[in-house]
Amino acid sequence: MKLEGIILSSVDYKESSKIINLYTSLGKMGIKIPGGKNPKGAYLNASTPGLILDLITTDSKNKSLIEYHPINNPFDLVNDLSKINALMVILDILKKIPDENNHKSIYEFSKKIILSLNDNNPDKVLSIFLIKILYAYGVNPNLKSCVICNNKNVVSFSVSKGGALCDNCSTPDDTLNTFIEYYYDKKDIKDYSDTDFKILLDKIRNYYINFVPIKINF
Ligand SMILES: [Zn+2]
Repeated sequence: MKLEGIILSSVDYKESSKIINLYTSLGKMGIKIPGGKNPKGAYLNASTPGLILDLITTDSKNKSLIEYHPINNPFDLVNDLSKINALMVILDILKKIPDENNHKSIYEFSKKIILSLNDNNPDKVLSIFLIKILYAYGVNPNLKSCVICNNKNVVSFSVSKGGALCDNCSTPDDTLNTFIEYYYDKKDIKDYSDTDFKILLDKIRNYYINFVPIKINF
């Protein structure tokens, strides 16, 4: 079988093999790497988390790796701790994605996000990822009308109330515009405006704590 996937984690399997856990356009999947623990083996490098692989596997129910081709090189990121940290958060969120989802679009989006870490501010890439991936957890923040009084004249974003607030119910802040901008699609990471990412990531973290039913570590 031909497929593409992002390595989420790997574990040793029996004496000499490994299992890699991948996120693919079909969802999460474990694939055996025969001889994957052998330091001289042909598959030695095919188990690094964050690596995106083009691969061919057996067609059997328990799939084994036959051939692979790396699409990226996560080792390019090791000199920048904040990029590695962003990558680890992205992989952690993907590990917890509910099975019932349109994995094809989540996969394509996640691949694009991981590949963009090389050339972009990792806090920006991570913010875009965390806001957009909310829908995969069934969380859709109301960004168009006030979550308290339904007024359409929205001016701020509340992490505790879970969405936009109007000018009667709050004082204006910049986060709403960033949330709206980051929630909807743009072609390139560079097309999204910059902001104070420390403040934004703080708001996103609090939003996750309040509304997303997973344990987060960012
Ligand atoms: Zn209101």
